[in-house]
Amino acid sequence: MPFLSETLSRVKPSPTIAVTNKARELKAAGKDVIGLGAGEPDFDTPEHIKAAGIRAIEEGKTKYTAVDGIPELKEAICAKFKRDNGLDYTPAQVSVSGGGKQVLYNALVATLNPGDEVIIPAPYWVSYPDMVLLAGGVPVAIEGKLDHDFKITAAQLESAITPKTKWLIFNSPSNPTGAGYSKAELKELTDVLMRHPHVWVMSDDMYEHLAFDGFEFCTPAEIEPGLYARTLTVNGVSKAYCMTGWRIGYAAGPVELINAMRKVQSQSTSNPCSISQYAAVEALNGPHDFIAVHNEAFVRRRNMVVKMLNEASGITCPTPEGAFYVYPDIAGCLNKTSAGGVKITNDEDFATALLEETGVAVVFGAAFGLSPNFRVSYATSDAALKEACTRIQNFCAGLS
Ligand code: GLU
Repeated sequence: MPFLSETLSRVKPSPTIAVTNKARELKAAGKDVIGLGAGEPDFDTPEHIKAAGIRAIEEGKTKYTAVDGIPELKEAICAKFKRDNGLDYTPAQVSVSGGGKQVLYNALVATLNPGDEVIIPAPYWVSYPDMVLLAGGVPVAIEGKLDHDFKITAAQLESAITPKTKWLIFNSPSNPTGAGYSKAELKELTDVLMRHPHVWVMSDDMYEHLAFDGFEFCTPAEIEPGLYARTLTVNGVSKAYCMTGWRIGYAAGPVELINAMRKVQSQSTSNPCSISQYAAVEALNGPHDFIAVHNEAFVRRRNMVVKMLNEASGITCPTPEGAFYVYPDIAGCLNKTSAGGVKITNDEDFATALLEETGVAVVFGAAFGLSPNFRVSYATSDAALKEACTRIQNFCAGLS
Protein backbone atom coordinates (compact mmCIF):
# COMPACT_ATOMS: atom_id res chain seq x y z
CA MET A 1 0.00 0.00 0.00
CA PRO A 2 1.52 3.39 -0.93
CA PHE A 3 2.34 5.57 2.06
CA LEU A 4 1.42 8.90 0.48
CA SER A 5 -2.18 9.77 -0.29
CA GLU A 6 -3.66 9.26 -3.74
CA THR A 7 -4.89 12.85 -3.68
CA LEU A 8 -1.37 14.14 -3.18
CA SER A 9 -0.15 12.13 -6.15
CA ARG A 10 -2.38 14.26 -8.40
CA VAL A 11 -0.90 17.50 -7.06
CA LYS A 12 2.39 19.14 -8.07
CA PRO A 13 4.61 21.30 -5.86
CA SER A 14 4.14 25.05 -6.48
CA PRO A 15 6.26 25.97 -9.54
CA THR A 16 6.46 29.66 -8.56
CA ILE A 17 8.00 28.68 -5.26
CA ALA A 18 10.25 26.09 -6.96
CA VAL A 19 11.69 28.69 -9.36
CA THR A 20 12.16 31.21 -6.57
CA ASN A 21 13.99 28.65 -4.44
CA LYS A 22 16.16 27.57 -7.38
CA ALA A 23 17.19 31.18 -8.07
CA ARG A 24 17.92 31.70 -4.35
CA GLU A 25 20.09 28.56 -4.22
CA LEU A 26 22.03 29.49 -7.35
CA LYS A 27 22.65 32.98 -5.96
CA ALA A 28 23.81 31.56 -2.63
CA ALA A 29 26.22 29.33 -4.57
CA GLY A 30 27.73 32.50 -6.06
CA LYS A 31 26.05 32.32 -9.50
CA ASP A 32 25.12 35.52 -11.32
CA VAL A 33 21.35 35.03 -11.24
CA ILE A 34 18.58 37.56 -11.79
CA GLY A 35 15.37 36.24 -10.25
CA LEU A 36 12.20 37.30 -12.06
CA GLY A 37 10.28 34.36 -10.63
CA ALA A 38 9.01 35.49 -7.26
CA GLY A 39 5.71 37.31 -7.19
CA GLU A 40 6.54 39.71 -4.41
CA PRO A 41 7.28 43.42 -4.25
CA ASP A 42 10.94 44.30 -3.79
CA PHE A 43 9.90 47.27 -1.59
CA ASP A 44 10.23 46.98 2.16
CA THR A 45 7.17 46.92 4.44
CA PRO A 46 6.36 50.61 5.17
CA GLU A 47 7.77 51.89 8.49
CA HIS A 48 4.41 52.67 10.14
CA ILE A 49 3.28 49.09 9.53
CA LYS A 50 6.50 47.62 10.90
CA ALA A 51 6.14 49.88 13.94
CA ALA A 52 2.65 48.48 14.58
CA GLY A 53 4.09 44.96 14.55
CA ILE A 54 6.87 45.95 16.95
CA ARG A 55 4.34 47.63 19.22
CA ALA A 56 2.23 44.47 19.26
CA ILE A 57 5.24 42.47 20.46
CA GLU A 58 6.11 45.04 23.11
CA GLU A 59 2.54 45.12 24.36
CA GLY A 60 2.50 41.35 24.69
CA LYS A 61 -0.03 40.76 21.95
CA THR A 62 1.67 37.49 21.31
CA LYS A 63 -0.93 34.99 22.44
CA TYR A 64 -3.61 33.01 20.62
CA THR A 65 -6.28 35.20 19.09
CA ALA A 66 -9.77 34.45 17.85
CA VAL A 67 -9.36 31.70 15.24
CA ASP A 68 -10.28 33.77 12.19
CA GLY A 69 -9.04 37.18 13.21
CA ILE A 70 -9.00 39.83 15.95
CA PRO A 71 -12.06 42.13 16.08
CA GLU A 72 -9.93 45.23 15.27
CA LEU A 73 -8.75 43.63 12.03
CA LYS A 74 -12.22 42.47 11.06
CA GLU A 75 -13.47 46.04 11.60
CA ALA A 76 -10.61 47.41 9.48
CA ILE A 77 -11.45 44.90 6.73
CA CYS A 78 -15.13 45.90 6.76
CA ALA A 79 -14.08 49.56 6.49
CA LYS A 80 -11.75 48.69 3.59
CA PHE A 81 -14.50 46.89 1.66
CA LYS A 82 -16.84 49.84 2.15
CA ARG A 83 -14.19 52.44 1.25
CA ASP A 84 -12.65 50.75 -1.78
CA ASN A 85 -15.43 48.57 -3.15
CA GLY A 86 -18.70 50.00 -1.83
CA LEU A 87 -19.43 46.61 -0.24
CA ASP A 88 -21.20 46.28 3.10
CA TYR A 89 -19.92 43.45 5.26
CA THR A 90 -20.18 42.89 9.01
CA PRO A 91 -17.31 41.42 11.07
CA ALA A 92 -19.24 38.12 11.24
CA GLN A 93 -18.87 37.91 7.46
CA VAL A 94 -15.07 38.23 7.58
CA SER A 95 -12.38 35.57 7.82
CA VAL A 96 -8.64 36.19 8.30
CA SER A 97 -6.01 33.56 7.52
CA GLY A 98 -2.28 33.04 7.03
CA GLY A 99 -2.20 34.61 3.55
CA GLY A 100 -4.60 34.65 0.63
CA LYS A 101 -3.57 31.08 -0.05
CA GLN A 102 -5.04 29.78 3.18
CA VAL A 103 -8.26 31.75 2.65
CA LEU A 104 -8.78 30.15 -0.76
CA TYR A 105 -7.83 26.71 0.51
CA ASN A 106 -10.19 26.94 3.50
CA ALA A 107 -13.05 27.97 1.24
CA LEU A 108 -12.45 25.09 -1.16
CA VAL A 109 -12.06 22.50 1.60
CA ALA A 110 -15.19 23.85 3.28
CA THR A 111 -17.37 23.59 0.17
CA LEU A 112 -16.17 20.97 -2.32
CA ASN A 113 -17.60 17.48 -2.53
CA PRO A 114 -15.99 14.82 -4.74
CA GLY A 115 -16.72 15.63 -8.38
CA ASP A 116 -17.65 19.28 -7.79
CA GLU A 117 -16.25 21.42 -10.59
CA VAL A 118 -14.41 24.70 -10.23
CA ILE A 119 -14.01 26.89 -13.31
CA ILE A 120 -10.59 28.51 -13.52
CA PRO A 121 -9.76 30.96 -16.30
CA ALA A 122 -6.30 30.18 -17.73
CA PRO A 123 -3.65 31.35 -17.53
CA TYR A 124 -4.24 31.01 -13.81
CA TRP A 125 -2.19 31.37 -10.69
CA VAL A 126 -0.43 28.02 -10.22
CA SER A 127 -2.08 27.08 -6.96
CA TYR A 128 -5.78 27.29 -7.91
CA PRO A 129 -6.11 23.92 -9.71
CA ASP A 130 -3.96 22.05 -7.22
CA MET A 131 -5.90 23.44 -4.27
CA VAL A 132 -9.12 22.30 -5.95
CA LEU A 133 -7.60 18.82 -6.38
CA LEU A 134 -6.44 18.74 -2.75
CA ALA A 135 -9.98 19.61 -1.69
CA GLY A 136 -11.39 16.75 -3.78
CA GLY A 137 -12.83 18.86 -6.60
CA VAL A 138 -12.30 18.95 -10.34
CA PRO A 139 -10.56 22.00 -11.86
CA VAL A 140 -12.06 23.05 -15.21
CA ALA A 141 -9.79 25.45 -17.09
CA ILE A 142 -10.97 27.81 -19.82
CA GLU A 143 -8.35 29.62 -21.86
CA GLY A 144 -8.06 33.37 -22.19
CA LYS A 145 -6.24 33.80 -25.50
CA LEU A 146 -3.35 36.11 -26.30
CA ASP A 147 -5.48 37.99 -28.86
CA HIS A 148 -8.09 38.62 -26.15
CA ASP A 149 -5.46 39.89 -23.68
CA PHE A 150 -5.66 36.54 -21.88
CA LYS A 151 -9.23 37.26 -20.71
CA ILE A 152 -12.11 34.80 -21.04
CA THR A 153 -15.35 35.68 -22.81
CA ALA A 154 -18.91 35.37 -21.56
CA ALA A 155 -19.55 32.66 -24.17
CA GLN A 156 -16.60 30.61 -22.89
CA LEU A 157 -17.85 30.89 -19.31
CA GLU A 158 -21.39 29.97 -20.32
CA SER A 159 -20.26 26.81 -22.09
CA ALA A 160 -18.03 25.68 -19.21
CA ILE A 161 -20.84 25.72 -16.65
CA THR A 162 -22.40 22.32 -15.86
CA PRO A 163 -24.79 21.18 -13.12
CA LYS A 164 -21.65 20.19 -11.17
CA THR A 165 -20.06 23.65 -11.25
CA LYS A 166 -19.68 25.01 -7.73
CA TRP A 167 -17.31 27.94 -8.12
CA LEU A 168 -15.77 30.30 -10.64
CA ILE A 169 -12.38 31.55 -9.43
CA PHE A 170 -11.97 35.07 -10.76
CA ASN A 171 -8.69 37.02 -10.56
CA SER A 172 -8.20 40.55 -11.88
CA PRO A 173 -5.64 42.07 -12.25
CA SER A 174 -4.31 38.63 -12.98
CA ASN A 175 -1.41 36.62 -11.77
CA PRO A 176 0.31 35.68 -14.17
CA THR A 177 -0.70 38.06 -16.97
CA GLY A 178 -1.42 41.36 -15.21
CA ALA A 179 -4.55 41.64 -17.36
CA GLY A 180 -7.47 43.45 -15.73
CA TYR A 181 -11.14 43.06 -16.62
CA SER A 182 -12.90 46.38 -17.26
CA LYS A 183 -16.25 46.97 -15.60
CA ALA A 184 -18.04 46.21 -18.87
CA GLU A 185 -16.07 42.98 -19.37
CA LEU A 186 -16.76 41.84 -15.82
CA LYS A 187 -20.45 42.68 -16.17
CA GLU A 188 -20.66 40.34 -19.16
CA LEU A 189 -19.33 37.53 -16.96
CA THR A 190 -21.57 38.33 -14.01
CA ASP A 191 -24.58 38.38 -16.37
CA VAL A 192 -23.76 34.77 -17.23
CA LEU A 193 -23.52 33.87 -13.54
CA MET A 194 -26.90 35.48 -12.85
CA ARG A 195 -28.40 32.87 -15.20
CA HIS A 196 -26.81 30.04 -13.17
CA PRO A 197 -27.81 30.48 -9.52
CA HIS A 198 -25.93 27.36 -8.37
CA VAL A 199 -22.52 28.83 -9.27
CA TRP A 200 -20.60 30.80 -6.63
CA VAL A 201 -17.73 33.24 -7.27
CA MET A 202 -14.42 33.33 -5.47
CA SER A 203 -12.88 36.64 -6.45
CA ASP A 204 -9.16 36.86 -5.76
CA ASP A 205 -8.59 40.63 -5.58
CA MET A 206 -5.02 40.44 -4.31
CA TYR A 207 -3.72 42.88 -6.96
CA GLU A 208 -6.55 45.42 -6.54
CA HIS A 209 -4.27 48.34 -5.71
CA LEU A 210 -1.70 47.52 -8.39
CA ALA A 211 -3.69 49.04 -11.25
CA PHE A 212 -2.14 51.38 -13.80
CA ASP A 213 -2.88 53.95 -16.50
CA GLY A 214 -6.24 54.82 -14.97
CA PHE A 215 -7.49 51.23 -15.00
CA GLU A 216 -10.49 51.05 -12.67
CA PHE A 217 -10.48 47.96 -10.52
CA CYS A 218 -13.81 46.23 -9.99
CA THR A 219 -14.96 43.12 -8.14
CA PRO A 220 -17.96 40.87 -8.93
CA ALA A 221 -20.15 41.61 -5.87
CA GLU A 222 -19.74 45.33 -6.58
CA ILE A 223 -20.58 45.10 -10.30
CA GLU A 224 -23.52 42.75 -9.74
CA PRO A 225 -25.15 43.11 -6.30
CA GLY A 226 -27.30 40.11 -7.23
CA LEU A 227 -24.19 37.97 -6.71
CA TYR A 228 -23.42 39.28 -3.20
CA ALA A 229 -25.03 36.29 -1.49
CA ARG A 230 -22.87 33.80 -3.41
CA THR A 231 -19.56 35.63 -3.63
CA LEU A 232 -16.45 35.25 -1.53
CA THR A 233 -14.40 38.42 -1.97
CA VAL A 234 -10.77 37.59 -1.20
CA ASN A 235 -7.92 40.01 -0.61
CA GLY A 236 -4.79 40.40 1.49
CA VAL A 237 -2.03 42.73 2.55
CA SER A 238 0.86 40.88 0.88
CA LYS A 239 1.21 42.69 -2.42
CA ALA A 240 -0.04 46.28 -2.00
CA TYR A 241 1.48 46.69 1.47
CA CYS A 242 4.69 44.72 0.77
CA MET A 243 3.90 42.24 3.53
CA THR A 244 4.36 38.86 1.82
CA GLY A 245 6.23 37.35 4.75
CA TRP A 246 3.73 38.51 7.36
CA ARG A 247 1.12 36.12 5.91
CA ILE A 248 -2.22 37.85 6.24
CA GLY A 249 -5.04 37.25 3.78
CA TYR A 250 -8.74 37.78 4.31
CA ALA A 251 -12.13 37.32 2.75
CA ALA A 252 -15.72 38.38 3.21
CA GLY A 253 -18.84 36.52 2.23
CA PRO A 254 -22.01 34.86 3.51
CA VAL A 255 -21.90 33.99 7.22
CA GLU A 256 -22.54 30.29 6.65
CA LEU A 257 -19.48 30.03 4.41
CA ILE A 258 -17.33 32.12 6.77
CA ASN A 259 -18.35 29.87 9.69
CA ALA A 260 -17.43 26.77 7.67
CA MET A 261 -14.04 28.28 6.81
CA ARG A 262 -13.48 29.02 10.50
CA LYS A 263 -14.21 25.39 11.30
CA VAL A 264 -11.50 24.27 8.85
CA GLN A 265 -9.01 26.75 10.29
CA SER A 266 -9.86 25.85 13.89
CA GLN A 267 -8.90 22.25 13.19
CA SER A 268 -5.80 22.99 11.13
CA THR A 269 -3.77 26.09 12.02
CA SER A 270 -5.84 28.20 14.45
CA ASN A 271 -5.29 31.94 14.23
CA PRO A 272 -2.91 33.67 11.84
CA CYS A 273 0.12 35.27 13.57
CA SER A 274 -1.11 37.74 16.22
CA ILE A 275 1.68 40.25 15.52
CA SER A 276 0.95 40.24 11.80
CA GLN A 277 -2.72 40.85 12.46
CA TYR A 278 -1.97 44.04 14.41
CA ALA A 279 0.37 45.17 11.64
CA ALA A 280 -2.39 44.49 9.10
CA VAL A 281 -4.80 46.70 11.08
CA GLU A 282 -2.33 49.54 10.64
CA ALA A 283 -1.83 48.69 6.96
CA LEU A 284 -5.57 48.92 6.24
CA ASN A 285 -6.36 51.90 8.49
CA GLY A 286 -3.14 53.87 8.02
CA PRO A 287 -1.84 56.10 5.20
CA HIS A 288 -1.89 54.68 1.69
CA ASP A 289 0.17 57.26 -0.15
CA PHE A 290 3.15 54.91 -0.62
CA ILE A 291 1.06 52.76 -2.97
CA ALA A 292 1.04 55.49 -5.64
CA VAL A 293 4.81 55.87 -5.26
CA HIS A 294 5.32 52.12 -5.73
CA ASN A 295 2.93 52.07 -8.68
CA GLU A 296 4.93 54.78 -10.41
CA ALA A 297 7.97 52.51 -10.23
CA PHE A 298 5.93 49.50 -11.38
CA VAL A 299 4.59 51.35 -14.43
CA ARG A 300 8.07 52.53 -15.40
CA ARG A 301 9.42 48.99 -15.06
CA ARG A 302 6.48 47.44 -16.89
CA ASN A 303 6.94 49.82 -19.83
CA MET A 304 10.64 49.07 -20.08
CA VAL A 305 10.16 45.30 -19.80
CA VAL A 306 7.33 45.18 -22.36
CA LYS A 307 9.36 47.28 -24.82
CA MET A 308 12.55 45.25 -24.42
CA LEU A 309 10.73 41.90 -24.62
CA ASN A 310 8.92 42.94 -27.78
CA GLU A 311 12.32 43.80 -29.26
CA ALA A 312 13.50 40.23 -28.58
CA SER A 313 13.25 38.00 -31.62
CA GLY A 314 10.33 35.55 -31.42
CA ILE A 315 8.62 37.19 -28.42
CA THR A 316 5.27 39.02 -28.31
CA CYS A 317 4.40 40.79 -25.07
CA PRO A 318 1.11 42.62 -24.42
CA THR A 319 0.97 45.59 -22.02
CA PRO A 320 -1.16 44.63 -19.01
CA GLU A 321 -3.30 46.85 -16.78
CA GLY A 322 -1.98 45.82 -13.40
CA ALA A 323 -0.20 43.49 -10.95
CA PHE A 324 3.56 43.28 -11.48
CA TYR A 325 3.68 40.55 -14.09
CA VAL A 326 3.92 40.29 -17.84
CA TYR A 327 3.26 37.09 -19.75
CA PRO A 328 5.15 37.13 -23.05
CA ASP A 329 4.31 34.66 -25.81
CA ILE A 330 7.27 32.75 -27.23
CA ALA A 331 5.66 30.98 -30.19
CA GLY A 332 8.39 32.48 -32.41
CA CYS A 333 11.14 30.80 -30.34
CA LEU A 334 9.86 27.23 -30.53
CA ASN A 335 11.60 24.45 -32.44
CA LYS A 336 14.86 26.37 -32.45
CA THR A 337 18.13 25.52 -30.75
CA SER A 338 19.75 27.75 -28.15
CA ALA A 339 23.37 28.90 -28.34
CA GLY A 340 24.05 26.33 -25.62
CA GLY A 341 22.66 23.54 -27.81
CA VAL A 342 19.24 23.03 -26.19
CA LYS A 343 16.28 22.30 -28.50
CA ILE A 344 13.40 24.55 -27.41
CA THR A 345 10.27 22.46 -27.88
CA ASN A 346 8.12 24.12 -25.19
CA ASP A 347 8.14 26.93 -22.66
CA GLU A 348 9.65 24.78 -19.93
CA ASP A 349 12.67 24.09 -22.18
CA PHE A 350 12.88 27.83 -22.84
CA ALA A 351 12.85 28.77 -19.12
CA THR A 352 15.33 26.03 -18.21
CA ALA A 353 17.79 26.98 -20.96
CA LEU A 354 17.36 30.68 -20.18
CA LEU A 355 18.30 30.08 -16.55
CA GLU A 356 21.22 27.80 -17.37
CA GLU A 357 22.66 29.88 -20.19
CA THR A 358 21.95 33.43 -18.98
CA GLY A 359 21.14 33.22 -15.27
CA VAL A 360 17.66 34.75 -15.72
CA ALA A 361 14.99 32.93 -13.70
CA VAL A 362 11.39 33.10 -14.98
CA VAL A 363 8.40 30.78 -14.51
CA PHE A 364 7.39 28.74 -17.59
CA GLY A 365 3.87 29.16 -18.95
CA ALA A 366 2.70 25.53 -18.70
CA ALA A 367 2.66 26.01 -14.92
CA PHE A 368 -0.07 28.62 -15.40
CA GLY A 369 -2.06 26.55 -17.89
CA LEU A 370 -1.35 28.53 -21.07
CA SER A 371 1.61 27.95 -23.38
CA PRO A 372 3.94 28.85 -24.97
CA ASN A 373 4.69 31.71 -22.57
CA PHE A 374 6.66 32.64 -19.53
CA ARG A 375 5.92 34.90 -16.59
CA VAL A 376 8.14 37.79 -15.64
CA SER A 377 7.70 39.36 -12.23
CA TYR A 378 9.01 42.90 -12.66
CA ALA A 379 8.93 43.67 -8.93
CA THR A 380 12.68 44.11 -8.88
CA SER A 381 15.11 46.97 -9.52
CA ASP A 382 15.17 48.82 -12.85
CA ALA A 383 18.84 47.96 -13.28
CA ALA A 384 18.28 44.22 -12.71
CA LEU A 385 15.31 44.26 -15.09
CA LYS A 386 17.28 46.01 -17.81
CA GLU A 387 20.12 43.53 -17.50
CA ALA A 388 17.69 40.59 -17.46
CA CYS A 389 15.85 41.80 -20.57
CA THR A 390 19.15 42.36 -22.38
CA ARG A 391 20.11 38.77 -21.54
CA ILE A 392 16.72 37.54 -22.81
CA GLN A 393 17.20 39.51 -26.04
CA ASN A 394 20.66 37.98 -26.51
CA PHE A 395 19.33 34.51 -25.72
CA CYS A 396 16.60 34.91 -28.35
CA ALA A 397 19.06 36.33 -30.88
CA GLY A 398 21.17 33.20 -30.32
CA LEU A 399 18.34 30.81 -31.22
CA SER A 400 18.83 29.14 -34.58
N1 GLU B 1 1.76 34.58 -5.44
C1 GLU B 1 3.18 34.70 -5.66
C2 GLU B 1 3.57 34.17 -7.02
O1 GLU B 1 2.74 33.85 -7.82
C3 GLU B 1 3.93 34.09 -4.53
C4 GLU B 1 4.35 32.66 -4.68
C5 GLU B 1 3.18 31.75 -4.58
O2 GLU B 1 2.66 31.58 -3.50
O3 GLU B 1 2.81 31.27 -5.65
O4 GLU B 1 4.73 34.14 -7.32
